[in-house]
Amino acid sequence: MIPVIALVGRPNVGKSTLFNCLTRSRDALVADYAGLTRDRKYGEGELLGRKFMVIDTGGISGEEEGIDSVMAGQSLQAIEEADAVMFLVDCKAGLTPADEMIANHLRMRSKPTFVVANKVDGTNPDIALAPFYEMGMGEIFPTTATHRKGVRSLMEIVLERFPETEAELEDKPRGIKIAVVGRPNVGKSTLVNRLLGEDRVVVFDLPGTTRDSIYINYERHGANYTLIDTAGIRRRKSVKETVEKFSIVKTLQAIEDANVVVLMADASEGIVEQDLHLMGHTIDAGRALVIALNKWDGLEESHKTYVKSELERRLRFIDFADIHFISAKHGTGVGHLYESIEKAYQAATEKFSTNFLTRLLQDAVREHQPPIVRGHRIKLRYAHPGGHNPPIIVIHGNQTGELPAAYVRYLEKMYRRALELHGTPIRLEFKSSE
Ligand code: GDP
Ligand code: GDP
Repeated sequence: MIPVIALVGRPNVGKSTLFNCLTRSRDALVADYAGLTRDRKYGEGELLGRKFMVIDTGGISGEEEGIDSVMAGQSLQAIEEADAVMFLVDCKAGLTPADEMIANHLRMRSKPTFVVANKVDGTNPDIALAPFYEMGMGEIFPTTATHRKGVRSLMEIVLERFPETEAELEDKPRGIKIAVVGRPNVGKSTLVNRLLGEDRVVVFDLPGTTRDSIYINYERHGANYTLIDTAGIRRRKSVKETVEKFSIVKTLQAIEDANVVVLMADASEGIVEQDLHLMGHTIDAGRALVIALNKWDGLEESHKTYVKSELERRLRFIDFADIHFISAKHGTGVGHLYESIEKAYQAATEKFSTNFLTRLLQDAVREHQPPIVRGHRIKLRYAHPGGHNPPIIVIHGNQTGELPAAYVRYLEKMYRRALELHGTPIRLEFKSSE
């Protein structure tokens, strides 16, 4: 599992700036789960060849009446979900009473904590850092988040704490890894129970912590599957429910770790913003996707028509995913989900030859040439496979950096159709020799 890092500190110390440094800056990844998580922001990043997740907790001023209640609220939640905490302080402001209060609270928790002294630019570090050492929280890491300075060496130390071990799995997941994700109450637990069915053979059932999902290996009609249970239906009762039943971290990790994501939405409510965010995350992670509109039972015909037209409008950007209208409660439509899951997995993991990919590219270029840039026509020469789940197609040529987005989409569409890549996002990567 990838490590999760929470950023905490007073407002204005540079948490958002550091968050943006650490995470891929594409908007979809930095989704704002408004209403679900108040001010928390979640993002995924990759540095030094390692993936990690960052939670920006928003501001704790430390000056509020009863900081306890504030800490017990959303920041506590973020800290609880995290493997490590980055506690940011501001070199220009120096040590404030609020910092000391936050430090006291962090000391009481047993999470690895790294004190980050941001805005060290334009100061004498020896002098600027000294007061923070007084907090007695170990080494202080100076950064200038606005210029990405110090961030790499900080992350080296942080990631060192989380050596890359193949999780403590005694038994490896087998078969297609399926994650059922969605907002609270859309029916995930109900569907998970349905998917496992009665004739399932649970091969193993790995208990996780409250934060980690549980992996359930099972068989269906002789095929192996691993279900990543984010809904927590099988969570042991004895574990204290300090973490909300719905956890974004858990959801994002499940998406990252799955082969196929079954995204559930509630048909009686239609597709809402948070559903779209989760789809965005799934596509960015490159995972195969099947959409299940649940609670289709008991809907008026007029409402069904309305939901379908809404879907068409809002989901135009993911025309590759199968959509099912199901009732997890009654079991209708659930069998067909497996067909889509299998198909999406096949597409996501299919192998293609260099010859075939190159021929398709050349045909497409002949049919519709790339534009001329600065007196030279952009050349696309050959293509080869670069990976699967998602399928990656690497295209070599000249000036490929100048390709208009519309042309990239044209190629993507062509490959999707020719290779019958239904149910999975695809990635085109361009390599230029000039
Ligand atoms: P947050 O409230 O903790 O999320 O803080 P922000 O990331 O919004 O930053 C607050 C302000 O500090 C912004 O104006 C940033 O541009 C500025 N800032 C952030 N990092 C640095 C830094 O390393 N050096 C300087 N000089 N300013 C910074
Ligand atoms: P989760 O929070 O996503 O795991 O959702 P649950 O599986 O706990 O379901 C939330 C509520 O929706 C429960 O009261 C379920 O009985 C109900 N529910 C789940 N699936 C369906 C369905 O297909 N139709 C209807 N009408 N209700 C459902």
